Parts: sequence; C-alpha cells; structure tokens
Amino acid sequence: MSSTDTQPSPASPKWHALSIEQVASELGTDARSGLSASEASQRLERDGPNTITVKDSSPWWVRFLLQFHAPLIYILLAATVVTLFLGEYVDSAVIFAVVLVNAVIGYVQETRAANAIDALAKSMTIEANVRRDGRRSRVDAADLVIGDVVLLEAGDKVPADLRLQRLQDLHTDESSLTGESEPIPKNASTLDEDTVLAERLNMAYAGSLIARGGGEGIVIATADKTEVGRISEMIAGADAIATPLTRKIAQFSKVLLIFILALAALAFLVGMLHDRTPTEMFMASVALAVSAIPEGLPPAVTVMLAVGVSRMAQRKAIIRNLPAVEALGSTTVICSDKTGTLTQNQMTVEAAWIPGSESNQFYTFGGVGYEPAGRIAGPDDQEADPSRDVTLVELLRAGALCNDATIEEPTEEESRWTIQGDPTEGALVVAAAKLANAFQGGDHASAFEQVDPETVNSRWERMSALPFDSEHQYMATLHRQPEGDGGMLYVKGSVERITTMCRSAVGTDGSDVDFDSDAVHEAASELASRGLRVLAFARRATADTPDSNTELSHDMFNGDAEGGFVFLGLQGMLDPPREEAKVAVAQCLAAGVRVKMITGDHALTATTIAGMIGITRDGLLQDGSEGETPPPVTGAEMEKISDDDLPEIAARTDVFARMTPEQKLRLVRALQSRGEIVAMTGDGVNDAPALRQADIGIAMGIAGTEAAKDAADIILADDNFASIESAVEEGRAVYANLTKFIVWTLPTNGGQALVILFSMFIGAVLPILPVQALYINMVSAILLGMPLIFEAKDPDIMDRPPRDPARPLLTFETIMRTALVAILLCAGATAMFHWELDRGESEAAARTAAVSVIIFGQIMYLFSARALLNPAWSVPIWSNPWLWAGIASMLAVQATLVYVEPIANVFHFAALDPIALGLIGAIGVVVFMVVETEKAIRRRYFPPEDPDAP
Ligand code: ADP
Ligand code: MG
Repeated sequence: MSSTDTQPSPASPKWHALSIEQVASELGTDARSGLSASEASQRLERDGPNTITVKDSSPWWVRFLLQFHAPLIYILLAATVVTLFLGEYVDSAVIFAVVLVNAVIGYVQETRAANAIDALAKSMTIEANVRRDGRRSRVDAADLVIGDVVLLEAGDKVPADLRLQRLQDLHTDESSLTGESEPIPKNASTLDEDTVLAERLNMAYAGSLIARGGGEGIVIATADKTEVGRISEMIAGADAIATPLTRKIAQFSKVLLIFILALAALAFLVGMLHDRTPTEMFMASVALAVSAIPEGLPPAVTVMLAVGVSRMAQRKAIIRNLPAVEALGSTTVICSDKTGTLTQNQMTVEAAWIPGSESNQFYTFGGVGYEPAGRIAGPDDQEADPSRDVTLVELLRAGALCNDATIEEPTEEESRWTIQGDPTEGALVVAAAKLANAFQGGDHASAFEQVDPETVNSRWERMSALPFDSEHQYMATLHRQPEGDGGMLYVKGSVERITTMCRSAVGTDGSDVDFDSDAVHEAASELASRGLRVLAFARRATADTPDSNTELSHDMFNGDAEGGFVFLGLQGMLDPPREEAKVAVAQCLAAGVRVKMITGDHALTATTIAGMIGITRDGLLQDGSEGETPPPVTGAEMEKISDDDLPEIAARTDVFARMTPEQKLRLVRALQSRGEIVAMTGDGVNDAPALRQADIGIAMGIAGTEAAKDAADIILADDNFASIESAVEEGRAVYANLTKFIVWTLPTNGGQALVILFSMFIGAVLPILPVQALYINMVSAILLGMPLIFEAKDPDIMDRPPRDPARPLLTFETIMRTALVAILLCAGATAMFHWELDRGESEAAARTAAVSVIIFGQIMYLFSARALLNPAWSVPIWSNPWLWAGIASMLAVQATLVYVEPIANVFHFAALDPIALGLIGAIGVVVFMVVETEKAIRRRYFPPEDPDAP
C-alpha cells in the first residue's frame, strides 16, 4: 500500500486527522443516528453502488488461444502442415477444421463452467448493519453510501472505508490487504495528519475483517474510491479450475501421450520394414495418436465438476472451492454445529429458575413462536404476580437489557411474529415481553414498565456493551441507572462462566442472599437434561455513573473481579431438532459417514439433543454395532487429553460440548491423523482456522460471519445439516458418473488404437484413416460420452462406504475391462474390414464398415457402462434422455457422413449394403453380451470389497 501512503488523493480530506464531529459535518451526516433513508437513496443514485469494478483477468481471445495449448493439438497441427505439403488438401483442411471446432467447443464448455461457478460466487452478497434515521437495519453492502453509519461486530467484513467511533475492543484482521495476520487493535481518537495508512488506527478499510470486539464507523469512501478499489483491480475469480482430480488426469494424459508417441514411432519403423511409404506411415501414426488419446476426458471432468457445483447449489450447498466437490465424495466424518444446523435455531424460553428455590422448581412459559403472549406460572402453578415475583421480573429484565435482538409484529408480508438478531437473544426479549403483557392493564401497569423490553431499554440507557462470543461465553452491557446516580452492569452467558463471577444472589423476595453454586448447577442440569439451552444472568451495580466514553473490556470480568456479581437466575430455552436433520443423520450413518456434534452448549443439553436427532442411539454405536454410547467430551476434559490420546478418543466420541473454536482445530487435526476425511462446520470468526484445516470447511450462509465464509470451501445457504448430507450425496454421484465416463472412454480409445496398431504391425492397409479416427473420437466423446455425466444417481449411492481417496484413477478392474473391450472392438473392426475386402468391396466401403463397428460397439458398450458392475438392465432404460439424444445424433451424423455423397468423399466413406449393416449390428450385440457376461462372472466369483469400484 506504499504507493497510496505517499500520494493521498488530493480531493479527499485526511479523515483520520478530523474528529468524529468534523467528519460527520463534512459528510453531511449524523454520527449517532446516521443518514435519513431518503438521503441515503439520493446518494446511492448520485455515487453508484458500493461494488468494486471487476476486470477480466485475461481477454477472451487469450483464453481461446489457450485451447490450442495441448499436446494432441500440436500433433494435429503438425499433421495439418504435413498433409498440406503432401498435397492432401482435403485431409489437411478437415484436420484443421476439427482442430478449430475442438477449440471452440473447449472454449465454450470452459467458459460456461467458469460462468456457472462465477455466478454462484457473485450470488453470495455481503450485507452490512447500518443506522439510518436512528434505527438499525440490515442492508446489502452494495447499497452503502458515503456518510452511512455502519455497525461492526466480530466476524464482519468491513464493507467500505470507515472512520471509526464508539469502539468496544475492536480489532481488525487486515491480512487480506497487508499480509499482516496479527489482529490490529483500533481506537477512535483523532490522529496526526501525516500518520501513514498502516498506522491510522481510527480507520477501517474495506476488505478487512473484524477479528474481535465491535464498534461503529462512518463511511468515507465506497466502491473504487476505497483503498482496495484504488490500488488493485479485483481479478475475476474463476480462472483456476484445477482440482486434485483434474491434475491427476492431466498427469495421466501426459504419461499416456509419451507412451503413445513411442508406440507410434515403433509402429512407424515396423511399417517401413513392411515396405510402406513414409507418408503412409506418418498418416498411420497420426491416426494412432488421435485415436488413442482420450481427448474427451479433461473437458468431461470440467463439465462434470461444474454440473456437480450447480446440483449442489440447487440443494443449498454453495461451492467456493472446486476440489471440495471431490473431497465430499470421500468424506468419512462430518463434525457439525448443533444450534441452527441440527436444530431449528428457533428458541423459546420454556422455564426459568430463581435463586433460593428448589433446584427442580421452575417457572414455566406458555405460548408458541415469537409471539409475546403466553401464560407464565410459578412452581405452584400460580400465575405470575408482580408483588410476589420480584426476582422473576429482575431476571427477565436482565434478559431484555443484555440483548441486541428485537421482536417485530406481524406485517402484511410476514403473518407471524419475527425477531431481528440472534435467536437466543430474541427468545429472551419474547420472554420479557410475555411477562410485561401479563402485567399490562389493571393494577399492574407500573409493573409493565419494569419488564417491557422497549420501555426498559429506553429507561436504562445502554452506555457500552461486549457482544457474545463462543470463546468468552458471555455478553455484558453497561447501563445508566434510570433514577439517581450510578450504573448497572448486566451479564448473561453459560452457567459455568457466570457462576464464577458471582458472590451473592437475589433471594426470592429480591433481597441479597448467599450464593449457592451447587444449587444453581443442579437446577441447570435439570433444565439441560430436558434438552433446554440454559443461560445464566447476573448484575452488578457500579458507583460511577457511566457516560458514552466508558468502555467495557473482558479484563473487567475475571472471576475475582472486585465486588463480584449478584446472581439473578436461569432461563432455559427449547430449540427443537430439525426433522430433516434426523433423516440426514440416519442417511449419513448408513453411508458409513460418521456424524459428530460439536457445540458450545452444555454437555447434558447436547447429549439430549444428540439422542433426539439420532447421533447417539440406545445400545448402538454409529457403525451399527452394539455397544454403550460413549460419554460426551467437554472442552475442559479435552484440555487434559494429550495429543497422543486425542485421535483415539476423538474417533470414538459422538458429542463434544462446551468446545471453544481452538479446540475444533485440534479435533480436526486429531481426526485427520487417523486418515479421516473431515468436514467441519463453523460460523464464528474464530472458527476460520478449523474450517481451513478441515478437508471440507463448511460455513453457515445465514448465521455465519464473513470471516467464516471466507475460510470455507462450502457455504450452506440454509444452514441445514440436511444440505451437507445432500452435498455428500452429490459429491459421490459426481465421482460415480466420472468413473462411468472413464470406464466407457478408455476402452473405446483403446479399441481404435489397437485396430490401427495391429494393421501397422502386420503391414496391412489402414482400416481407419486419420480423419476418420479424428471424427470418431471427437464426435463420440461429446455425443456418447458426455451424456454419462447426466446419469441419474445410483439409488444405492448412500448405502456404500466412502470412497478411499487413495484409490488410483485406474484400478485393476478398470484396466481389465479396458483391455477386454478394446480387444473386442479391435477384433470386430479388423475382421469386418478384411471380410469386406475379401468379398471384393472397395477400400472405402471396408473402412466404412470398420468405423461403423467401432461406433456401434461404442453405442452398445455405453449401455453396459451405465452400471459398473450391475447388469445394464438394472438401470431404468429411459432414465437419461441425454443418452438417447446423443445416440440418435451419433447415428444421424454417421448416416450423413456415409450416405451424403460430397461429405462421404471428404471423409473417404462409401455406402454399405444390408448384409454389412446386419453384421455390424451383430458385432455390437456381441460386445454387449460379452461385457455383461464378464460383469456377471465378477459379481458371482469376485464380489468387490468396495462396490463403487468398477
Ligand atoms: P452453540 O452455537 O454450539 O449452541 P454457543 O457457543 O453459541 O454454542 O453457546 C454456548 C453457550 O453460551 C450457551 O449454552 C449459552 O449458555 C451461552 N450463550 C449462547 N448465546 C448467548 C448469547 N447471545 N449471550 C449470552 N450467552 C449466550
Ligand atoms: Mg452459537
């Protein structure tokens, strides 16, 4: 960024050297309430959207020319030139035309695949929280304008260049801009005018991430005027479409090429010994190379991956990283979040507990959804009463104050009550509102004001806050007392964390009593064992009256912090499991993919939910064998497990509770050390390292932070576990269909090559000419091979164990099948060729017959290739319309080439008589029957360990 240090844009004032008030007045905005909505839309009109112009990395013609950068094309170009010199103008033109057509098709396919992937990437828009007209709202980051007040929290991506204000421990991660990976602590003070960019701590630049803390910023530049926009042009993303598989195939093609060229050279020499002319032998060698190289393979892999990507997108799994498509097919373990992924993330407070009561005595809450209506009753089933239930009022008020969520009334579009913000917090607002509404009217009107969320939030003005994160397990807010001096601190969080802060508790009548930690834990366990998510609440009065400069920090909340907190009670909320998740978990287990629940929640809550979802089953282990369910492992327990012991324990355990993000990383590593292919979900900033480490990092599309999405390979559009299962299914399907393509294409290439090779070695006339070989190969790969990509998923795809990622592309079985079919095709075509010559037909007719044998043999073998091991008729015959369209087109093309006079001459074809046609058909049927017999023998006598293997 040094270039911009020395040359600040002359037009823009040095924002870092101005106070917030000056910045606001300069930009015509209000630092507190933000712009008005109408002003914002006018500015958007004037300045345009906040998006950085994307420049194409390389122009279309470069990408087109790159299509010619392939060994086979070099051979063909050489053949074009040589045939030209030999005076074979027609052949020369045909070969060159094929090269051109091939390049166009390759270009179109590649562009379409890249566009599909690009479009998906673009469909993931970034959103930002802004304050307009004094109200918080969520907008598309593209709609931000200069002067907007943006609210930042941990995990957000900074959406524009900002001058910061009202920070709470805000740290940014600017590694994507500067390469510096340490989080940078920011502060809002006004800086010296000539502070260099990297040291402008009161600024946050677009593209950086909020590593922790929160705060606000006034937008001072958008779109191409931001620092990133000025120094770099965003490069279009979809250039690199290489994956381990495409690399493996590229590698394989290279080896194959060298082998074939060596073979061609050898055949050339042998042919010369047979007194053939060099020209003839050169043409034969070209024909050999052309027919033996599976040029359809690399584009097929690209298209296949692209098809996989779009199918996964339809099933709500958005691929950010192409290799993930392959890795998904061999996933052996899915480590999934609980909240929102396995459960619905629709929280309802069902029970509350206050200090001093028995640990099995709870207030209960009626009502459904987020509607703030429902009966609240005490342990004695008496309806809540403000004069008696003072502590309950305190507890629910704490929940309403230490909270960033709001509830919204039904509107015309949305007929139900909804919440804005974290569902856990939304539930607390609803609970408080239920109590307030129960008190409304009558003698209790003043009690309403003590607990109604809107009223209490305006009376107890909030001065500072520490938002919740899974690492610290609590949230804190600091408020000014409504009457008199002093302030009030509220905390809410996990029971373990909050109880360490407390010294005393409010008694049932509101007075301070001794704090009984055991009773609290007992009550919490009681709630957790019912599957409820438990939050604890506490408060602490402060003598100083806080003002807007008071900032909270985590240092103030250590266990022995002076004064201690007063414990207020517990609220337990229900988050029902997702029905789809139950089905998906069962499918994963059947497919040999283990499912582990990783949660920040209480061990008992987690175990109960795990049982409800089927992650643990009574008396059954995940692999289906009998056994006692292994106990859950908590974060505290995991700390004590050594790196040596962890892999074993990690593999055995199904539920991990109270886990911190760092521990997720350890867990992934431990599982990987046992050779597992691990998919791990995450949503928070601190999940990023684990997501990067996992073979497949999965971020939540709805609840996930930008930081997590940035690190992930896959984004779940609906946050649903079932979508992970679908993605695994699609990943397997991609690989299975690719295997079918390979099993189909290699023998057909091998067959043609053998025909030519054989004739060269025995010194006979070529049964297949180079142009004909070219035609067969290029056209059949597209018309016959490509449809295999669209084969329906095998119905038993989720009944197989995961694919072993170490399994080679070519297994023993593939090689045997290739040899078998190649020999059949070679024998059929050669025999047909000589039989035609012997009965006095022209060379052209004999070649036509040989070529037709290959093509018809390929068509018949196509049906066998649809099922790798099962009979061809086990696949519904009409299930893939592409296949039939491809076969029909192939036959039509062949008929045109043979029977339309001028074209037939170009390709050196001649018409066939019915006897020849009949024989060709018969040979095709024989190929089909032999392969089906081979499959039957293999099923009967050599059943594979891994049924996925061909
Ligand atoms: P998970 O997402 O796996 O359910 P979390 O890390 O979100 O786990 O939550 C862990 C614990 O932190 C919960 O059991 C709850 O006690 C507490 N907690 C969750 N959300 C909040 C919040 N917004 N404010 C305070 N505490 C929370
Ligand atoms: Mg959570």
